[in-house]
This record gives sequence, C-alpha cells and structure tokens, in this order.
Amino acid sequence: MSAVVMDGKALAAEIKQALRKRCAALSRPPRLAVVLVGDDPASAVYVRNKEQDCAQCGISCADHRLPSGTSQAELLALIDTLNRDEAVDGILVQMPLPAHLDAGQVLRAIAPAKDVDAFHPENVGLLHLGQPRYLPCTPAGILALLKKYGIDPAGKHCVVVGRSNIVGKPLALLLLQADATVTVCHSKTPDLADQCRRADILVSAAGQVGLITADMVRPHAVVIDVAMNRGADGRLCGDVDFGAVAQRADYITPVPGGVGPMTRAMLMENTYQAALGRESR
Ligand code: NAP
Repeated sequence: MSAVVMDGKALAAEIKQALRKRCAALSRPPRLAVVLVGDDPASAVYVRNKEQDCAQCGISCADHRLPSGTSQAELLALIDTLNRDEAVDGILVQMPLPAHLDAGQVLRAIAPAKDVDAFHPENVGLLHLGQPRYLPCTPAGILALLKKYGIDPAGKHCVVVGRSNIVGKPLALLLLQADATVTVCHSKTPDLADQCRRADILVSAAGQVGLITADMVRPHAVVIDVAMNRGADGRLCGDVDFGAVAQRADYITPVPGGVGPMTRAMLMENTYQAALGRESR
C-alpha cells in the first residue's frame, strides 16, 4: 500500500482531549440535549456514541427518548422547552425521524444559537455568506483532517460526489471558501469516472458500495471516503475500493476510523462554542 492512511480516530481523540480542558475552563460544563424518537437500532448506537463523546469532553448530555408514536406537536413542544431552558446549550435531534414526522419543520424549530448540527436555515444561510455561526460537522471534520495532514485545498481541484444538504453541498462551500476549485457530482452526472479523475482531492459521499474504483482516481490524489455502508458481508465500508485505491492515491481515509469520528468531534466543538457564546452574552 502506498497511500498514507488518514487517521480520523486519532485526530478526533486529540481534539476531544483538548476540548476537555477548554470545557473545564467554562463557568459550568456545556450541556447537549439529544432527542431520539423511536427505536431505530442504528440511531440508538449513534446516540450512545455521542453520549460517550460528551463524557470524554466533560460535556453534560441530556437524553430525551420519545416513543415512535410521538406526534409532531409533542416533539415541537419538547424542542420549545429545550430552546427556553437556559441550562441547555446545544440541541440535536437524531435523524432519521419516523416517517409521520416532518423533519424540516422540526429542524427549523430549533433555536439557531442551539443548532449545533448547523442544519437550521439561518445557520445554512450564514455558512453560504462565509460567516458561519457553527460549521456543519462532517464537512468541518474533513477540513480538519486535511489540515492535520498538511493538505491545503487552496488552488486544488476538489471533486465532491454527492449533493446532500448535510454533506455534499456544505462541503463544496467550505472547500470553495478555502480557495479550491470545486466540482459537485451526483447521480445524474454523466461520466462520473472522468470527473473523478480530474480531482486532486476526491471526496465520495454517495452511500454506494464500490462506487469509486482505482481507475477513477488520479495518481497521487487525496481520497476522502465519507460513506458508511454495509457491505455484502454485513461489515461497515465506504464508497471507495480501499485496497486498490490506496495503491494509487497519496492519502486515503479508512472506513471506519476516518471521517466518522471527526464528525462526532466537530459536534463536541460546536457544543463547546454554543456554551462559550452563552457565557459571553
Ligand atoms: P444522501 O442524502 O443519500 O445523498 C447521496 C448523494 O450521493 C446524492 O446527492 C446522490 O445523488 C449521490 N449519489 C448516489 N449514488 C450516486 C452515484 N451512483 N453516482 C453519483 N452520485 C450518486 O446521503 P448523505 O446523507 O449525504 O450521506 C452520504 C453517505 O455518507 C452515506 O453513506 C452516509 O451514511 C454517509 N455519512 C457519513 C457521515 C460520517 O460522519 N462519516 C456523515 C453523514 C453521512 P442525487 O442527489 O442525484 O440523488
């Protein structure tokens, strides 16, 4: 294998250790409210991981578990209570919500100052203007990982595969703001392989096992795999054919242990920033 494997797990641990000291310097620990509706097993694992991250950073975590039959009005009432609660700095509603609930309306109900996922339209708008209140967690985690390995996107051609509101679009914006030239691809892009081969930095966030093969990667490229898929053997894997691409690229992220832990570390950073903002009000 020739590529350097970018260790998101190690960098996330470093970030959380540093955050622990910064959180301890506040007048009280930051507090994150996590709302989980229903009993989706994957969501329950994500929430448990966030609780662990909070414990490692000295952030207090308040869990709100609601039954799958919770109505929109009941969920909005809980968010209203959390918005008004001075003791709560950040609010996270674990997605996906059960199908009968309107996720967009729920995300819009969170007070923008407590929206540590940065999904509220006001925070999305601020990001577009280049004046972010909070950085969206997955894109910010990717930028932090690039920085750690001395990879500056400025002047590079970055190709982002995926245009979702939580990964592709905000990542494209952050890369643009970092002076990269950015191409965004999606399921209707003709000649995906051609586009990918033009990338100095290739990011795949499609959620398709085996989408990125070695012939789609320019020699010496940086390859970031955001996806979290289940392979045919049931194991966690990304979009990238890791073994073959690692022979061609200079840098590559693993799945698991690459972008995932960085996303979680950035949520902790945003929760700290929310608490810091509250202290300075
Ligand atoms: P999403 O909302 O399903 O978006 C997927 C995007 O990929 C869409 O824009 C889609 O195009 C595009 N796409 C799908 N198949 C494609 C193909 N064959 N060729 C080109 N583009 C294709 O997913 P998401 O929420 O952004 O998440 C993407 C992946 O990242 C998932 O595996 C998810 O689990 C993972 N994820 C990981 C983290 C982390 O922390 N590591 C965080 C968030 C998400 P269209 O728009 O045309 O449909």
